This record gives sequence, structure tokens and C-alpha cells, in this order.
Amino acid sequence: MKYLVLLLVVVGVLWFARSRAGRLSRRGEPPARPPQPQAMISCVHCGVHLPRDDAVAGAQGLYCSEAHRLAHGDRR
Ligand SMILES: [Zn+2]
Repeated sequence: MKYLVLLLVVVGVLWFARSRAGRLSRRGEPPARPPQPQAMISCVHCGVHLPRDDAVAGAQGLYCSEAHRLAHGDRR
């Protein structure tokens, strides 16, 4: 019975040490970076706002679509 208590104490100490080590290694990782805000532009033709990556570039500015670039008379 004495050895059973001793065994439980040893297992408890090992479990505590392992969980503590796992927590420490996880804390060492860099935190996940939040998504960066996208640059927004407004269409020269209709004024709608959209992400810069989705814009269509023309000679007179940026457009929301190819149709609006043509409708604005921008021939690139
Ligand atoms: Zn537009």
C-alpha cells in the first residue's frame, strides 16, 4: 500500500512536469499574425470601393471591372 501511494506521487509529478513543459514550448512559438488590412480603392467610373488586388488598372485610374474601364472611355 505504501508503494502504491509512492507510485501515484511519482506519476503525478511526471504528469505535472510534462504538462508544464508542453505549455512552455507552446508559449515559445510566435503568435499567429492577424490578417493585414487590404488597401481599398474606389472605382473612377462608379465610385464603388473594392480591394486594390481586385481592381482593374487603366490609364486614368483604377476600376471595379473591365466593363467600367471601357465605359469610362479608358483605353489603357
Ligand atoms: Zn465601377
